[in-house]
Amino acid sequence: MEIPISELVLADPGLPVPNPTNPYWLQPPHSLSRTQSATLPSTTDVVIIGSGITASSASRTLLENHPTYHITVLEARTLCSGATGRNGGHLVAYGGLVYSDLKKNFGEEQARQTVKFTFDNIERTKELIAKYGKDAEYRDVTRVRGFEDNATFESAKKSIAEFEEDNSDMAGMYRIITKEVAAKMYGVNSIVGAVLFAAGALWPYRLITNIFEHLSEKYDSRLSLETSTPALEIIHDQSASSHPYLVQTPRGAIRASHVVHCTNGHSGCLLPKIRGALFPMRGSMTVQDLEGRVPNRGDHMSWSLHHAPKFDPSTGLTQIGTFYLQQNHHSRLFFFGGERKNATETLTADDSVESNTSVEGLQEKLSTLFGLDPGVLSRVVSSWSGIMGFTSDGLPLVGKLDESVTGRAGRSEWIAAGFNGMGMSMCVLAGERLAKKILGQEDVGIIPGAFEVTKERLETSLKSEISVANMEAIFSSTIGREARAK
Ligand SMILES: Cc1cc2nc3c(=O)[nH]c(=O)nc-3n(C[C@H](O)[C@H](O)[C@H](O)COP(=O)(O)OP(=O)(O)OC[C@H]3O[C@@H](n4cnc5c(N)ncnc54)[C@H](O)[C@@H]3O)c2cc1C
Repeated sequence: MEIPISELVLADPGLPVPNPTNPYWLQPPHSLSRTQSATLPSTTDVVIIGSGITASSASRTLLENHPTYHITVLEARTLCSGATGRNGGHLVAYGGLVYSDLKKNFGEEQARQTVKFTFDNIERTKELIAKYGKDAEYRDVTRVRGFEDNATFESAKKSIAEFEEDNSDMAGMYRIITKEVAAKMYGVNSIVGAVLFAAGALWPYRLITNIFEHLSEKYDSRLSLETSTPALEIIHDQSASSHPYLVQTPRGAIRASHVVHCTNGHSGCLLPKIRGALFPMRGSMTVQDLEGRVPNRGDHMSWSLHHAPKFDPSTGLTQIGTFYLQQNHHSRLFFFGGERKNATETLTADDSVESNTSVEGLQEKLSTLFGLDPGVLSRVVSSWSGIMGFTSDGLPLVGKLDESVTGRAGRSEWIAAGFNGMGMSMCVLAGERLAKKILGQEDVGIIPGAFEVTKERLETSLKSEISVANMEAIFSSTIGREARAK
């Protein structure tokens, strides 16, 4: 029986499940993967919940910018085992390709700030890769963004034109090519056209675990990394003025001055009032071997394919319409993600389950993309799922949380979450600049105003009703048809 979209979107995401699928990226596990102190500290200055790219960035910045602060990272499972350890490994700022929508929804200034933020984030992330990513296999690549339908291609071209007209200082980053050029020069087939731009590809788990390793060595006495330690509840105790937050875990409670939510798709678990406005979406990833049937272009190219959401009445499944691909230049293996499944399988925070139909869809699409005989499928080396955090207005939540949002007294809860499946383009700067705000620094750098969790945003664009309507537009019209198709 289909569950209504509103129920799926508004559901408590709960804690990360204890038995997730096993991503290729997490093998072998880092030596800190299961690290924890013999005893949980009883007091800390800042509790950071989560241990992905955002948490690593916030932790690093707090430790580097404060002489004495003690930081405790609480991770429900193993280190970096959330979306950051399960994603496609693309370092891509969508910039001009999403500019028109940003401008329409948030105005020209916020659109410019958001795009600039992602470009700056890419540069900052690359600095960290240069410092800590020795084995993260980073490559500067040309991204080939292929479009499977004319409407999507035309709207991308229009957005680029508007972006370049409004921002002449950032013009010239995109090259629009025909389907013939895409096939001949870049090996991409079954599209109506493509856009080329600069991007990066890497092994994010290695970068983030290396950063945590560096921090735990350098700030041994000031950083507690506590894996297998979910934050179960946050209580604000006004009687304890310097460390008023009490964060409950199965290993005991910890007192803190600040609490930072870096919990992405799970944020609604400890922040029930944002459920629905920020909701989980399960994504599918595969590693596939085409066994030498196409050239190895992994050191200089990555690919994505796009089309409007599509329902297939013969299977009852929906393709959301975004597929992302990189090739590891050493192993020649393809890392390919995207969806072909129904709403119930998508709008969930449970990454212990994989979507077989998405995996099959990704096998078929890899052959079509490279113009291979559709009957010749790759060998699937690995597949897994991961949880993204989506928001009603497509922007993340970065900033301080008001009591009306936390439902608790106290003004020292912070959030950086809800990166809408594009966190590699935002998380490092989001974590960094949020940490500087926590420290009360003046020169923080810009966090786009549209990312803040303001009363106005909560009353206008950050609303569960909008998420429900957005998801219904993708899935709901298909639900009756899904049922009939069964
Ligand atoms: C399949 C997939 C493919 C993707 N591909 C790309 C891509 O190619 N490029 C890109 O830019 N983005 C991609 N993304 C999105 C990107 O991975 C995320 O936006 C980014 O990793 C978010 O990082 P984070 O640190 O905020 O969250 P996460 O990495 O999800 O970390 C959150 C952590 O919080 C922990 N946690 C949650 N609740 C609690 C609790 N109560 N107590 C303790 N711990 C808790 C979780 O276990 C998790 O480790 C993809 C995501 C998925 C799932």
